[in-house]
Amino acid sequence: MNAQWFQLGYLLSAALFIFGLKALGHPRTAPRGNQLGALGMLVAVITVLLEAGLVSDPWLIFGGIALGTAIGLWMAIRVEMTGMPELVALFNGFGGAASALVAVAEVYAAVETQAFPSGLERFVAWIAVGLSSLVGWMTLTGSLLAYAKLKGGFQIFGAWRRTPTWGPPWLNGVKAVLLVASVVLIGASVEYPDNLQLAWALMVTSSLLGVLMVLPIGGADMPVVVSLLNSLSGIAAAFTGFIISNSVLIVAGSLVGASGLILTFLMCRAMNRRLIDVLFTSFGGSTEQALTRTKAGSDADEVAMVLDGAQKVIIVPGYGMAVSQAQHAVRELADLLHERYGTEVKYAIHPVAGRMPGHMNVLLAEANVPYEQLVEMDEINPEMADADAAIVIGANDTCNPAGRGTEGPLAGMPIIQADMARTVIVIKRSLSVGYAGVDNDLFYLDKTMMLFGDGKKALTALTQAIKES
Ligand code: NDP
Repeated sequence: MNAQWFQLGYLLSAALFIFGLKALGHPRTAPRGNQLGALGMLVAVITVLLEAGLVSDPWLIFGGIALGTAIGLWMAIRVEMTGMPELVALFNGFGGAASALVAVAEVYAAVETQAFPSGLERFVAWIAVGLSSLVGWMTLTGSLLAYAKLKGGFQIFGAWRRTPTWGPPWLNGVKAVLLVASVVLIGASVEYPDNLQLAWALMVTSSLLGVLMVLPIGGADMPVVVSLLNSLSGIAAAFTGFIISNSVLIVAGSLVGASGLILTFLMCRAMNRRLIDVLFTSFGGSTEQALTRTKAGSDADEVAMVLDGAQKVIIVPGYGMAVSQAQHAVRELADLLHERYGTEVKYAIHPVAGRMPGHMNVLLAEANVPYEQLVEMDEINPEMADADAAIVIGANDTCNPAGRGTEGPLAGMPIIQADMARTVIVIKRSLSVGYAGVDNDLFYLDKTMMLFGDGKKALTALTQAIKES
């Protein structure tokens, strides 16, 4: 087949990736964006297979595709919405490992055939192999640790161990030494391209680097690091594209690398953190604060009375809404308030509410909440003082006034200013802390009513109480 057709196939898949990414920018068009991206990947895979003439062993290729599809499908079907960040972390790691393995395979192939390029060509090829290994192994081990951290721990010999978060300042020195060692190993591999030990030594230094990069990070900083690892997996893939001279891999890898980096910085901005602080200074909440205060709970009837005749209600969803799968119950309550009292209902969306960017948007879209009612943090905060009530459902850190302070893991984090509403209704099971492990003053305000219970059950009880009032 004409080589131009293959280039056309790659161009088409790259265009599909770009249009897919563009469509992912809005919840309404996001499902189409996903489909376009998947179609782009299908076109890319078919083009690669045709260009390679199905290689010498098609069964190996189709076996690999079938196995990968089965595992991916099984994981995607099984995963709960709350487990998505772990899955993303795992997939980032697999992406990094795939790139690193291709790099190592390239070294082995060259050694076997003794076909080493020379001069500038060798320099460029072996630097690409080295960088792909460095970033790929680092992404694999860093992502596996991030996965274990997001899960909270792992099983060893039948016992559950909490994933440690540890990072004395001198650890940064160790990381610097490992980075320098990795660069030296890459340089040496250009000089001695047939030395396989250099490739394995690079695997060790890069893998350690990945572990030490993620080890000190915890709490509220974890989403940032997962997004950064996602970006790294893309960068590793782009280097691999150079190694095997595949333009679509370079394009797709660069897109993942760039968009992951943009998301990383957006999340840092949402949490008022500098990336450099996330990676090298403190960890975002490693221990849980002991709770010393108490607060009496209210019942559904009391809360229903407060909502009677409300003109404006702002719902603040958080991780607990996802855990209890309360999105449909939230929608039902909002509809009832609107029907009964003509209440204007809006949803305040914090950029890092839940456990992944866009978590709340996805859940509320699933319950068919109109997109116009989902309002971003910066736009909803000025409206908060006009609200008769803010109903906080399973949110904690994202509306914790500690964000206005100067100390602690949440210091400086922009928050949904629920405490500005005339009345605050908080639905959660207890007074316990959120992800960052910090007690929340919002719960103890005089104007705050605590409706203790599982999110979905408490909302159903509240809706029932309003209907009966
Ligand atoms: P938080 O994690 O701060 O708090 C969630 C609250 O939900 C808990 O305090 C818990 O209280 C409550 N909860 C748990 N289960 C239920 C249930 N079944 N019914 C009702 N409530 C329940 O949530 P936020 O969304 O406010 O903040 C998100 C945090 O997660 C931030 O710190 C963010 O940085 C971090 N993060 C965000 C990611 C993202 O990309 N969005 C990814 C990873 C972390 P109780 O036990 O009393 O019920």
